[in-house]
Amino acid sequence: MEPAALEKFPSPGKGSGLRCLRRLRPGELLFRAEPFAYVVTKEQLGGVCERCLRRNEHLHRCSQCKVAKYCGKSCQKEAWQDHKQECKCLKSIKPNFPPDSVRLAGRIVFKLLRQSVCLSEKLYSFSDLQSNTEQLSEEMKEGLRHLAQTLQLYLKAEIQDASQLPPAIDFFQIFTKWYGLEDCYLSGICLPVHQCAVL
Ligand SMILES: [Zn+2]
Ligand SMILES: [Zn+2]
Repeated sequence: MEPAALEKFPSPGKGSGLRCLRRLRPGELLFRAEPFAYVVTKEQLGGVCERCLRRNEHLHRCSQCKVAKYCGKSCQKEAWQDHKQECKCLKSIKPNFPPDSVRLAGRIVFKLLRQSVCLSEKLYSFSDLQSNTEQLSEEMKEGLRHLAQTLQLYLKAEIQDASQLPPAIDFFQIFTKWYGLEDCYLSGICLPVHQCAVL
């Protein structure tokens, strides 16, 4: 769907904003896109399809990592691009499993490396997102540093050092771009990153 009636604008001290350029009808849908990246939360793992997020009691397991589950072949095929590299990482750290935010950060890294066109970037790209480092307390920064270390270990099977990361991103910054989004759990099923939701 084309975000035709929307315009981006900078909001000093608050980041970026979106405004509509014409009168709106109540309830009018302006833009719809899949999140840039999302993961099923640990609590829901195995109970919902990793692609379409529908509940299903008869999910098929990824034969490689044995973690990702899908309602059928078509969902598994559609999800493969987003799962291919994390699949190796999930397998490599067994029996450990990454925290949801680390698994999501991994998906973001792989998606940025693929440079694939994503409809959710039509309004804001991932690099447009402001880093929130300055607003973080020392305690929060320490928590994110810990997550960054966990991410580094988790991605080891695919990314050996920071030089292989997407340009202008490091293991720590990736978290500062969407920190606080944990409140945006989608009905508690998945953790998404959608640029417009974090403006
Ligand atoms: Zn499905
Ligand atoms: Zn897998």
